[in-house]
Amino acid sequence: MWLKWIIIFSLTSTAWGFRLTSDFTNGFYWSTLPINITVVEADPARKSMIEDLAKTAIDEWQTRSGLSLWDYTGSGTKNIIRWSTNFANETRMDPQSTLAVAIRYTKGPYFARTEIVINGGHILNQDQANLRTTLTHELGHTMGLDHSDVGDAVMAPTLQAWYTGLHSDDVEGVQAAQAEMDHRQVTGYVSPLAYENQESGQPLSCGTVGPASTTSAVSMNGLLSLVSGLLISFVRKVMKWFKSRI
Ligand SMILES: [Zn+2]
Repeated sequence: MWLKWIIIFSLTSTAWGFRLTSDFTNGFYWSTLPINITVVEADPARKSMIEDLAKTAIDEWQTRSGLSLWDYTGSGTKNIIRWSTNFANETRMDPQSTLAVAIRYTKGPYFARTEIVINGGHILNQDQANLRTTLTHELGHTMGLDHSDVGDAVMAPTLQAWYTGLHSDDVEGVQAAQAEMDHRQVTGYVSPLAYENQESGQPLSCGTVGPASTTSAVSMNGLLSLVSGLLISFVRKVMKWFKSRI
């Protein structure tokens, strides 16, 4: 009897937790770590504010995981964090429920660059504590972490209203992603899908949805827009596959 419970427990405990994004699972990865990242923002006061929050978020991920993942350079245009005042048009995500989006572009077998776009029009992002949590979540996406099933994880699909720090599930997730990247770097792994997408025009993005506590309708909208975004990219992939067969 006890053996049965141990088996059930181990099955459920491994089934629920961090997940890796589909592009990462399909074999795309950073060729080197840490990646350089910077805030691009014209308003000096806002730039400095976002920089401080981003550095805090980076520091937390790296201290907890013991890994060197991002190098805040303060210059460059490759991997960027930016504040958008035109979020719906720029990202096609629902601006009512989506706080930010992390977009990963691929080229060959690698992630070529990443962009975190903050929804500057969302009321929750006007609060620095929330914005820091949003940035922490999006930084996780840049390393190939998808949404976790653990509700207290920063990688849960909805924002934690009172963020208390990274969950062990977040730390284990990023360590798993880094270990896999390290393995791919050492072996020079090339995904069979790597050369289907030569141009970086079909990036994979992942939105962060506002807290579930606001209203269930709002968070459902966010989840639906995320699902439809994923469906569109899936349909495109299927169409591309068919075209390549004709
Ligand atoms: Zn997300």
